[in-house]
Amino acid sequence: MHEATVAFAILNKAAEALSNRFAAELASMGNSVDVKAEGHEGHPHTSGKPRVVSIKVEIGEFRNIDPESLTFAFESLRKDSPELKDASLKINLVEARAICAQKHEYHPLPDSYFACTICGGSLETMLRGEELNITSIELQHAEDNVEGR
Ligand SMILES: [Zn+2]
Repeated sequence: MHEATVAFAILNKAAEALSNRFAAELASMGNSVDVKAEGHEGHPHTSGKPRVVSIKVEIGEFRNIDPESLTFAFESLRKDSPELKDASLKINLVEARAICAQKHEYHPLPDSYFACTICGGSLETMLRGEELNITSIELQHAEDNVEGR
């Protein structure tokens, strides 16, 4: 199941963000990721392990990922990790855009072999629609942990 693999990869990246909290590390995915830590910004000594509260992803319409299946896979996999079990997944679907040889910008459709909807010419450049990116990971320190050591 394709979506389970994607969900697993997303959770892995979130776990990585928890352990290093540096956006630069995540840049290895090919784009910058906005890692936000809510609440105790600038207090590295706060007790209590941080956990992930939300993960935002953008998925192009041609990635063939079903958002419902992805959410289902995500929700069944996150249970295994205490730092991730409360994380919500926010999916932003990206509608495809393409440019034809005549430089028209249009919405390509598989049914018409991705041909230009304005002039019928063939697709020259796919602008959007093939994304699979984590755009933000929101972290939060657990408040209910035992303090003082
Ligand atoms: Zn055209």
